[in-house]
Amino acid sequence: MTYNEDDYLQLSGIQHFEFCRRQWALIHIEQQWEDNYLTVSGELMHEKAHDKDFVEKRRNVITTRGMPVYSREMGVRGDCDVVEFIRDDENGVEIFGREGKYNVVPVEYKHGTLKDADIFQLTAEAMCLEEMLCCRIEYGYLYYGKTRKREKIDFTEEYRSRVIKDFEEMQGYYIKQYTPKVKKRKACNSCSLKDICLPKLETYKSAKKYIDMTIGEE
Ligand code: SF4
Repeated sequence: MTYNEDDYLQLSGIQHFEFCRRQWALIHIEQQWEDNYLTVSGELMHEKAHDKDFVEKRRNVITTRGMPVYSREMGVRGDCDVVEFIRDDENGVEIFGREGKYNVVPVEYKHGTLKDADIFQLTAEAMCLEEMLCCRIEYGYLYYGKTRKREKIDFTEEYRSRVIKDFEEMQGYYIKQYTPKVKKRKACNSCSLKDICLPKLETYKSAKKYIDMTIGEE
């Protein structure tokens, strides 16, 4: 099955979806968004990386920033922070307008420390690049601003299956315009949408009890 361009979901939504399915739905189905420290600092790092006109060639590496990618099979589109094309005339693929063949290596800039959600986003980008360039990509890197280090990520079958499963589930919610219910947990404390999501409300047995409690708090 392939998706129509009009139905493509935002690729970066997979990190929201992995964090909390409800958060993803609030942002991508209900179009609600609130910035907190974590999201603002993440955005600033991406603005730096997404200089779309940037193409640099150094020795045997061509570096691009903000390269648009998509997948008809998964029904997603997005941008890669950085894609490195490393010359390899034996194993690489041809790139339009360039001499020789290249290995393709996506690099994603991230805030904080290594998380599964970041790995799945990077894997999804690699899968889009594979579909677009008809090639196989074995690994990529996550760059963390805090440690200033690159973490090498091998794109295993396990990661690839998880990405496919996540996007299938997201497409299902999107078609039904369904927002999953609140499941309050520790992560809610750092969630940028906690005031919109109202996790407190779901933990009270009834609206009357919620009103009694909140009025009681004042
Ligand atoms: S507050 Fe909690 S339940 Fe609500 S969207 Fe955020 S993480 Fe999900």
